[in-house]
Amino acid sequence: MTDPRPETQPRKAARCGRPAGAKNIERPAVIERPAGCSSCGSTEREFLRIAAEEPIAGVLPAPFDHVYTHIVWRNVRCRACGQHYRLICYEHRAAGKNGGGK
Ligand SMILES: [Zn+2]
Repeated sequence: MTDPRPETQPRKAARCGRPAGAKNIERPAVIERPAGCSSCGSTEREFLRIAAEEPIAGVLPAPFDHVYTHIVWRNVRCRACGQHYRLICYEHRAAGKNGGGK
């Protein structure tokens, strides 16, 4: 194939990755342990709708030790076996510099 651009128009170099001299961003790894299907255990699911959402704050006791600010009940369907189930999500919505907390 021939390049349709005229010779006077220089080809732009592809810019990939970080600019020269840019620092790496620190990315601490966190583990999410998603809930599995009540029937087959698969964690692949399709979100259907939010059934309810309440600004209820609390702490899930050990071994979770998880602080939450909202509880969200989501109706989902398992992608593996088609089972419908309700996912109860204890979410921590911290107000951050990027406008979190909603
Ligand atoms: Zn399933």
